[in-house]
This record gives sequence, C-alpha cells and structure tokens, in this order.
Amino acid sequence: MNMLIKGPEDEILKKEQAFKIIRSTIDKKGREALYDLTGLAGGFPIKEEDKGLLETYIGPAVYEEKFKGLALEHLGGEEAIAFNRTTSGILATIIALTKPGDKIVHYLPESPSHPSIPKSAKLRGAKYLEFDNIKEFHIPPGTTLIFITGATMDHKIIRIGEFKGIISLSKKAGIPVVVDDASGARLRTIIYKQPKAIELGADLAITSTDKLMNGPRGGILAGKAGLVNKIKSIAYQFGLEAQPPLIAAMVRALEEFEPSKIIKAIKIRDEVHIKLKRAFKGFQKTPTGVMIRPEEIKKEIERRHIRTRLSPQDISYLWAMLLLQEHGIITIPAAGMPGASPTLRLDLSAPDAQRLKPDQITKVIEETFQKLLKTIKEPAKAKTILGG
Ligand SMILES: *Cc1c(COP(=O)(O)O)cnc(C)c1O
Repeated sequence: MNMLIKGPEDEILKKEQAFKIIRSTIDKKGREALYDLTGLAGGFPIKEEDKGLLETYIGPAVYEEKFKGLALEHLGGEEAIAFNRTTSGILATIIALTKPGDKIVHYLPESPSHPSIPKSAKLRGAKYLEFDNIKEFHIPPGTTLIFITGATMDHKIIRIGEFKGIISLSKKAGIPVVVDDASGARLRTIIYKQPKAIELGADLAITSTDKLMNGPRGGILAGKAGLVNKIKSIAYQFGLEAQPPLIAAMVRALEEFEPSKIIKAIKIRDEVHIKLKRAFKGFQKTPTGVMIRPEEIKKEIERRHIRTRLSPQDISYLWAMLLLQEHGIITIPAAGMPGASPTLRLDLSAPDAQRLKPDQITKVIEETFQKLLKTIKEPAKAKTILGG
C-alpha cells in the first residue's frame, strides 16, 4: 500500500512541488541547471522568419504543403494530416472509420495500451478487444478497424514476424490497419532496423513529434488518401487538427530530425548501464536509456539490509524528486501527470542529455540513492519532499 502518494490528488501535489523546484532552479541558476531526461522534450524549433507567418489562413498556405512532403517522407503513404496530439489523431480515426456496435481489435507487444485507443473506442460505442499474446490474436466477425502498437509507452517493441502476421490476417479480412507508432516510428526503424509501418502494409500510421525528436507535442497521421481524407473531415468538425503555429514547429522539427543522434544515445546508454551495474542489479536498458522499476528499487534497498514500510512506488517517486531537487534532473515519476508510469527512466537521447557525461550520470544516481536510503527512514521528511 502507498503511504505517501495515495491517489491522483497526491500526485498533483507532487507534480506541483516538482514545478516549484523547476521554477526556483531557473530563477537561481538558469535553464542550463536543469536536465530534462523524460524523453518528452516539447521542443518548438521555429525560426525568426516563421513568426510573421503563423496566422489562420497564411500559416496553412505556407506550412501545410511542406508538412505533407516531410510527413510522407517520415511515415510513407499518400496523404497526411497534423493533429494536436497523437491522442486526438486516434480519436478522429476511430470516429471516422467505425460505427457504434462495431468491434475494434488491438495487438500490442505488452499490455496496457495507451489509454487513447480504449477510451476513444468507448466514446464511439465500439467494442474493444486487446491482445498482447499472438497465439490468442483473432479477428472476430463485426470488426471494422485493427490497431497495432509498434512500440509501447515503456518502449517495448513489436516483433517483425508478429507485425507481418497481423497485416496479412487483416488484408485477408479486408479490414484497415492503423499503427500507433507514437515512438515506434523512430525506435523501430532506427534502432531495430524495421521497415516503416506503411511499407509493411499498414493503411495508416500515426506518430508523435514529441517523442525521440525535438518537436512539439503533436501527432502526424499518414497513409491511404481515401482514409486520411475521411479522418480529416472529422478532425475539422471536432477541432482536433493542429493549428498553424504547431504545424510550423512540426515542419522545423522534421527538417532538423537527425537519426544519428538516436544512434549516439545507444553508445552512451551502454556505457551508463555498465557503470550502473557495478552498484545496482535492478537497472535495465531501454532502447535509448536506462530504467529501474519500483519493485527493483525496493530490492536494492533490502539488499543493503534496510527495511522500510514505504511502497515501491513511493520510493521511486522519492528518488525522482531527489534527482530533481539535488541535481536538476527531470524524470516522469517527479513531474509526470497523474497516472503516469512510476518507473524511473532516464532518456539519454534527450537534448539535455548531451550536456551530461556518463560518469556524471552514474555519480548523481549513486549519490541520490545514498540520500534516498536516509530519507526513507524519516517518513515525515519524505512526505514534505513529495509536496505533502
Ligand atoms: C505517447 C503515446 C501516445 C499518445 O501521444 P500524445 O501525443 O501524448 O497524445 C499514444 N500511444 C503511444 C504508444 C504512446 O507512446
């Protein structure tokens, strides 16, 4: 049972406490004293000359065509549209391509799905079936849309054989396939050398410009022109499409996108992982960084013969807050929205990671862990650190 963070309200207090530390660090030491290693950079790389062109009609006239060219280069397909978020693109797709009572089938390498797919299905009144075991996967009668997730929120990647198998079953059944490739459009293709989703036969693919690229939070949907145009019409009716300032920033992020930066992060990750392994058993590699799950943090503590009644989640949140407080390192357990994963993950492809050497990273992790061991003995102090 969680003693310190008991529910979403406590999570909001914790996030506000993290924001307070972020503000005071900026005031006292400047932006350079912060290191955002969440992997969600929210970059907005527009140029001086873009600023005068962001109006309601001039903006789309200038940027939409550039956007389409770059989006099709990135994802493949015939037509593309920019969304406010991946989530809004998924909602528009489900409204456009299914009817109440239809079935939506989803295969992903490991449950749970990003909430946007089951929640949008529910809003549409469609039945939602989720599979993460290929042996159980099937397409029941009444299915009108199939989702595949290329890489999960925890960066688990689909096997290429499974991907191809589902595409071939869907083609036989004549049902369109949408790939949620929010981070997968880069993780799968650059690190795992898999083809683009559309090259593998998907009808539509959607990705986030905030993940593994220095772009704003926004979604790009591309694929067959007939389907994209249906989805566009829904997007405009419900106000889900990206506005000119966002599209301009997406265009610049796509122009600047450089796969070699992701490849470079893997080398740094391997170095950090080897060094961490000397002190900790529980750190695992992710495609572009390292992570330790809450249960593993608890085990590290028990290995050092220290007992605590705090839950694994509470301990993970505390460690994340100490990293922020002492060293300006921002991670999701500290600053994330309520419901975000409590896993302590450091994304080393993040732009701020370029300013940290592997030795610095491991030293900071070891130091804050020592501090964590002291803090868990004083629950009252721990509670203040978490904003309570
Ligand atoms: C991040 C993510 C989303 C949602 O992206 P937003 O732009 O935050 O809406 C959807 N699916 C997966 C697999 C994701 O990782």
